Amino acid sequence: MRQKFTIRFLTLVETFDLQNFHITLDNLGARRYSKVSYPLRYGRFAEIRTPEHLFQFNLNGEVKFISGRGKDWPNPSEWLKRTVAGDWVYYSTGGYDGPYDCFGEYYLPCLSYPSNNINSCDPFQENVVVSAIEAWGPLHRELAKLDPGLLPANIVQFLDLLISNPPDELRRKSGRISAIIGDSVTVLPPDTRHVDYDVIPLIIADGCLYKCGFCRVKSRLGFKDRSRENIKTQIARLRDFFGNDLPNYNSVFLGQHDAMNSDPGLLEFAAGRAFDAFDLQNSNLQDPSLFLFGSVDSILKATSDTFDRIDGLPFRTYINVGLESADRDTLRGLKKGITAEGVENAYAKIVDVNKRYERIEITSNFVFGPGLPGGHIESVLNLIAKHFPHPCHKGTVYFSPLLDAGNSGWKRNIKREFYKLKRQIPVPSFLYLIQRL
Ligand code: SF4
Repeated sequence: MRQKFTIRFLTLVETFDLQNFHITLDNLGARRYSKVSYPLRYGRFAEIRTPEHLFQFNLNGEVKFISGRGKDWPNPSEWLKRTVAGDWVYYSTGGYDGPYDCFGEYYLPCLSYPSNNINSCDPFQENVVVSAIEAWGPLHRELAKLDPGLLPANIVQFLDLLISNPPDELRRKSGRISAIIGDSVTVLPPDTRHVDYDVIPLIIADGCLYKCGFCRVKSRLGFKDRSRENIKTQIARLRDFFGNDLPNYNSVFLGQHDAMNSDPGLLEFAAGRAFDAFDLQNSNLQDPSLFLFGSVDSILKATSDTFDRIDGLPFRTYINVGLESADRDTLRGLKKGITAEGVENAYAKIVDVNKRYERIEITSNFVFGPGLPGGHIESVLNLIAKHFPHPCHKGTVYFSPLLDAGNSGWKRNIKREFYKLKRQIPVPSFLYLIQRL
């Protein structure tokens, strides 16, 4: 049977109607990440609209976004995103008290795995959301049945890419990323929210310095730099892994838990080589960003030369440091091997670096939860107030909710408790939602 299709040219974007599918090739999304309260896509992508769903594909023909079009879909402004490591994340508007004040974003990412998410809703329990994720399988089978002889060449090329990515193949590909970088990225810096968590991971050092008692993401390994050879191999394999979709990235995460503690020459080498090899100069997205974690000791150890080198990189750099508390009893309770004096000195240096380097922003994390010693919050407020007699836009402070089964009552009040705190802090402050790659 002949398949019926019509072809329309709409400005520079080609659209095709093919049976029940409306296909748009080579959409141009925004070229710069921005914080908006409506669905916005970035870079270049293609899409297929069916009566039930909108599927959006990256330049490898891998499904990346799905949203429902029916009346059962929770909200027309919400969608699902598939991460590079194969997780599905549901982007929620957060209802009437939107998430911006808490998280600094207009959308709240609802995760399909355990985290410190303070929201009680779980979209992955909703049939309409699960069905949307499963809908790629049947759509893939339908597309594979189309007769290429009856279709224009660019549609055939596009469908060939899609057909090479059935659900099993997507799972297999996503699993490769950990093998390429030699570890799983179990937590991204909170600052990666500025690029919607779309970062290319590159591990330059394993392990961390402290092995804190409270931490859920620590690795078994002691801190150790990777070799330059290892970094070069990762970069070559990552370039291959991201393939045609590489131009849709403009940001790199240097892992793992304390890349700031690595040799400054190694850090500079890795960031510079990644920028060149991933051709970020010609990315579809402007404003390349570099993200890494630091620690009290690595910040104190870093010299002006180290910050000058970072400042000289072709990125805007965000370094996130887990300070946790400036209170001795709290640090002892967390089993974190740093002193209150070390935290005070590191924070003073963070403030200084943020003032001196326009293209570097060091952000800090503090714990937030019930049952912490009485001096904790006071110590944090005093520490910040000492450096900021007036409001300042730079040097964001994140609060990591400590959630466990025993404090569900506190979880219900967390936003109220956080707003009370936020009002007293003269720099931007948000909750830290722990998200993996
Ligand atoms: S909080 Fe940071 S330093 Fe402490 S164990 Fe976890 S990863 Fe390591």
